[in-house]
Amino acid sequence: MTTVQQILYKISAQLLQSGIDNPMMEARIMLAYILNVSTSYLVTNSNYVVEPGKIQALDQMMIRRCNREPLAYITGIKEFWGLNFAVDRNTLIPRPDSEILVEAALNFAKELTEPIKILDLGTGSGCLLLALLYELPNASGIGVDQSLKALGVAQHNANQLQLSDRVQFIQDDWANSVNERVDIVITNPPYIKIADICNLAPEIKMYEPHQALFGGIDGLECYRKLLPRASQLLTDHGCLFAEIGQGQEDAINAIATHNKFELVKQHRDLQGIIRCLVWKKLTA
Ligand code: GLN
Repeated sequence: MTTVQQILYKISAQLLQSGIDNPMMEARIMLAYILNVSTSYLVTNSNYVVEPGKIQALDQMMIRRCNREPLAYITGIKEFWGLNFAVDRNTLIPRPDSEILVEAALNFAKELTEPIKILDLGTGSGCLLLALLYELPNASGIGVDQSLKALGVAQHNANQLQLSDRVQFIQDDWANSVNERVDIVITNPPYIKIADICNLAPEIKMYEPHQALFGGIDGLECYRKLLPRASQLLTDHGCLFAEIGQGQEDAINAIATHNKFELVKQHRDLQGIIRCLVWKKLTA
């Protein structure tokens, strides 16, 4: 007979040994997932006896996690903006820091006359665009990505959130085939320098799609492509919201200025790092 408490001790020790931060928290999340209960249920039911079939399923999950596969790929779900998003190895796992882009775009959307049109460049799981559409009932959007497999995940998320009638997903390289004007462009493009691969956690380096992570030698390649296109597609009163890497603000703002954008705001993430830049178009 093995209880919740005994299992949590055992697997959190194994997770710790595999170099995983917050082993007890992850142990609880995994067991709660297998038992289909909340993590707080485990805390208050520590003497509950877990049946052998569930322990076997947990062992399978542990093999994957101890090989440093991200928990979100194992469970297939990541919460973002309080919503559940399906994710797999074709999509980046949404990060809490990216919620700042959603917040900034929502604040701007209040100033716009409806209906609002949004374009998400490099949509991945669709998390940024779908969070915005969820909050803005009179908005519609286009999500663009190079990866057809990622777009399949994004479409699934749109269906699950009942937003599919207001969103269109297109396989494209930075919206070259889009020809309608939009009020908001939002983007979290790949911005890691290739040489920085050695500094990444195994979870990222070994499992997340490199196509969604790396922005060339200096990390800025995608901004050079997307900023001119965003400038063509934005309406005159529109705004562009972009996530950036640590310390990239000056270099990226220089590219934006070159493309006739004017920086209107910068937002810091939960660690105080400038993470989101907002530009409007310079009108002559
Ligand atoms: N827009 C998605 C996200 O923020 C995917 C970003 C990407 O693939 N670089 O998670």
